[in-house]
This record gives sequence, C-alpha cells and structure tokens, in this order.
Amino acid sequence: MVDNCLFCRIVAGEIPATVVHETPGTLAFRDIAPKAPVHVLVITKEHHVDVAAVAAADPALAGEVLGAAAEVARGEGIEERGYRVMFNSGPDSGQEVAHVHAHVLGGKPLGPMLCA
Ligand code: 5GP
Ligand code: ZN
Repeated sequence: MVDNCLFCRIVAGEIPATVVHETPGTLAFRDIAPKAPVHVLVITKEHHVDVAAVAAADPALAGEVLGAAAEVARGEGIEERGYRVMFNSGPDSGQEVAHVHAHVLGGKPLGPMLCA
C-alpha cells in the first residue's frame, strides 16, 4: 500500500466503494462519477502506477486485469452489445489517479473514441 493513494485506500477498506467483482489480484468497483450507464474501474490490489508498470512488473497480473474487465462486462450485461476498456496513462491522457485502473464503459452507444 502506498500512502495517500486513493485506490490503495479503497483496497484497504479505508474508503468505501461499490465493489462488483473481485479476483485474487484485482478489485472492480463503480466509478464515483460515471461517464456512461456502466462505468466500472478494475484495479490491481497491489500498487502499480499505470498499465506499463504492471505489465513490466507482473505480466500475469496485467492479464488478470483484462480477464476481470471481461468478467465485469459479462456481469453488467454489456458483453453482447459491446463496451470499451480504457487505460489512461500519464499527463496527456488526463490520468488523475496514479494507480493502474481499467475503465470498463458501456450500456449505450459510446460514440467516437476521442472528442477532439
Ligand atoms: P483517471 O482519470 O485517472 O483515468 O480515472 C480516475 C477515475 O477515478 C475517474 O473516472 C474518477 O471519477 C474516479 N474516482 C475518483 N475518485 C474516486 C473515488 O473516491 N471512488 C470511486 N469509486 N471512483 C473515483
Ligand atoms: Zn495505490
């Protein structure tokens, strides 16, 4: 656990979250400010700053995040119509929380991938 990391604090149970899925290495919970009818974040329980960091440190865990994202989509009933899995990484992406998280978005047509 990293001090003052919001998502480490959610893993530790210090900050409440609506958990929808869990695996040995990951936790998935609803985004507090959803950008789509389904907006779930899949995080590693261990602290890694972004997707590149977890892929380098523990490729199996990176795969576990992707598998969990697919399970979340299935559980949320959006597998058939489709959904988007997105990792922000670094300043240009607008990453706000420096603890790896996959955004699982769906529940309506999501439109173009980028606004600009
Ligand atoms: P980022 O911009 O880093 O890719 O995404 C961070 C996400 O975390 C944002 O979509 C934001 O709404 C979400 N978020 C920020 N604080 C909290 C919180 O305390 N709880 C939950 N469940 N989500 C949060
Ligand atoms: Zn963390």
